Amino acid sequence: MDIFNTMKNIYDLKKAGYRKSNFKGYFETDPETFEENKKNHDALIKQMGWKKRECGSCNLCCKLVPVPALKKDSNQWCSHCDIEVGCKIYKDRPLDCQAFSCGYALGMTSESFKPDEVGFYIAMDSANDMMLGMFKVYTEKYRLANTIRRLKKVRFGFGNMKGFHISYGPSKEESYFLHEDYEKGSNEYYGVKSFEELKEWAMKDMPPQLIEKLKEIGKETW
Ligand code: SF4
Ligand code: SF4
Repeated sequence: MDIFNTMKNIYDLKKAGYRKSNFKGYFETDPETFEENKKNHDALIKQMGWKKRECGSCNLCCKLVPVPALKKDSNQWCSHCDIEVGCKIYKDRPLDCQAFSCGYALGMTSESFKPDEVGFYIAMDSANDMMLGMFKVYTEKYRLANTIRRLKKVRFGFGNMKGFHISYGPSKEESYFLHEDYEKGSNEYYGVKSFEELKEWAMKDMPPQLIEKLKEIGKETW
């Protein structure tokens, strides 16, 4: 069995509900698989016993993620956002917005993780992160230290999940990783690595062929 082809199939963009957009090469929700993915999404919520929540005063994802259909880049407010009130085009919002719910809105996290109060939100929107047993977390650069402090207190009891990939800017290098398996100081539960440190750590014992394959997969899915 070729493990890399298997991984590529599992994280096939189309199956995951995405396609490449014309805006800066970002991924966007694929209209062809939108309805089917919505059903799978709802089934997962039911199966997990989560209770969906209203976003209320929170609009954090309307600032932090890109919305290709609106040519809106990441880390800038959407022009349709009435900050702390809601979306001004709610009924006609793009598919990306309709398809997305963070961990708080899905009911996956506790009430104490309301994104506009803690300054970050947790998502399951990156195939690479799921593969490494990490949830994706979005925060703003100025809130990064606080986000790391807060997440260090979280413990999982959730499948193979072992940590967080914290994204604090538009480039993938603007990332910190908290993981149970990384080297840690005394009395610490998670080790913390920057993007560069993670790359060095993960690749030091890997054969070059494996590194190249992973880079190839990374381009498609991160
Ligand atoms: S970050 Fe979560 S709670 Fe806040 S607006 Fe987005 S989906 Fe809603
Ligand atoms: S269109 Fe509405 S839901 Fe989508 S990013 Fe803009 S304000 Fe948020």
